[in-house]
Amino acid sequence: MLAFWFNIPLWQRVIAALILGAVTGLLWGPEAASIKWIGDIFIKSIKMLVVPLIFFSLVSGVAAIGDLRKLGSVGGRAVSLFLATSIFAVSIGLLLGNIIDPGAGIAAPIIGTAEAANPPSVTEMITAIIPDNPVASMAKGEVLQLIVFSLLFGIAIVMAGEPAAGIARAMDAGSLVMQKMTMIVMELTPFGVFALIAWVAGTMGTDALLGLAKLVGGLYLGCALMIVIIYSGMLKFIARVPVIDFFRGILDAQAVAYSTASSSATLPVTLRCVQRNLGVSKSTSSFIISLGATINMDGTALYLGMATIFGATIFGVDLTMMDYIAIVALSTIASIGAAGIPGAGLIMMTLVFSAVGVPLETIGIVAGVDRIMDMMRTMTNITGDSAVATSVAAMTGELDREELVSADDI
Ligand code: ASP
Repeated sequence: MLAFWFNIPLWQRVIAALILGAVTGLLWGPEAASIKWIGDIFIKSIKMLVVPLIFFSLVSGVAAIGDLRKLGSVGGRAVSLFLATSIFAVSIGLLLGNIIDPGAGIAAPIIGTAEAANPPSVTEMITAIIPDNPVASMAKGEVLQLIVFSLLFGIAIVMAGEPAAGIARAMDAGSLVMQKMTMIVMELTPFGVFALIAWVAGTMGTDALLGLAKLVGGLYLGCALMIVIIYSGMLKFIARVPVIDFFRGILDAQAVAYSTASSSATLPVTLRCVQRNLGVSKSTSSFIISLGATINMDGTALYLGMATIFGATIFGVDLTMMDYIAIVALSTIASIGAAGIPGAGLIMMTLVFSAVGVPLETIGIVAGVDRIMDMMRTMTNITGDSAVATSVAAMTGELDREELVSADDI
């Protein structure tokens, strides 16, 4: 029985739970709220992962750079492009979220009280991200402070060099352990999704299901825009390479990303495509692609923006201009902190939602359709990494253009 359950891929169990939960909720009506506690357990387990996951994933990502000088020309350019594309991505997510408005018509159920966020001033915001006590920041779940501390910790490991090799390895191991722990928690998804969708369908009716379909459609459209407009533009105007050849060259990596929903799992394939088919030099590609798989997640950033609009509409949270700015900044930061594993975007929602007062129940509502969106955003994530690697290589003379053009014989 147990073997039968685990033999079915998780995403298929989640989709089945989504359908069963929706039917149960529609038949059961508002009474379905009585099983919402199962979903609450799922949400709490997700929150439990956030702090250690960010810490280990960021520290090991930065420590992997290994050479601070690399951070200079190649790193500086790559990080600027990573940031710029992420900001574009969240903006597209926010724009489409407002146009498509997937949460429209979904009435907020009983819990609709969101703790209103008091908009802080800019100087307060800057001061607030510096931790005065990293342990306290972790205990209180202050994710921004944790990110600042983790980045510095990673840089310091690189600066310490050989004597700190042990701790760098420990951080890598910690990151692996947290990824496994995430896999354990993800096993709760079918149950959490069943309970939460039953609750949503029971209290909010079919409008909620239609809203989810619109959210999925909106995300696919947003990612497609990202690929067709932003990446193609970057390749054409910054890298000056034939866009079609680029896409032909990374097709394998895109297919693997789409099917695994994990940038990290796709990393070896992305690296191979970028080196062999696109002609990016070994050192530039391994540096940018490994860094990008950890910190550059445009599909995830776009998703966070759109999902925040979705949750805000459902629960009647008014978003001010300051909130929008916070969403852009936090979604970018959250996508940097997200690990390249399935469902990471879902976990990072806690960071953006709590800052603008969107109830965390939204996570449970979107969790049922998360996998379908995860596949598309992961594909977008690795396409972005490859486009940035190609552009930086072109700028620094590390691109073998002959190789790119002859990609079709591979
Ligand atoms: N699964 C995505 C990735 O690995 C992250 C996410 O959940 O958005 O790139």
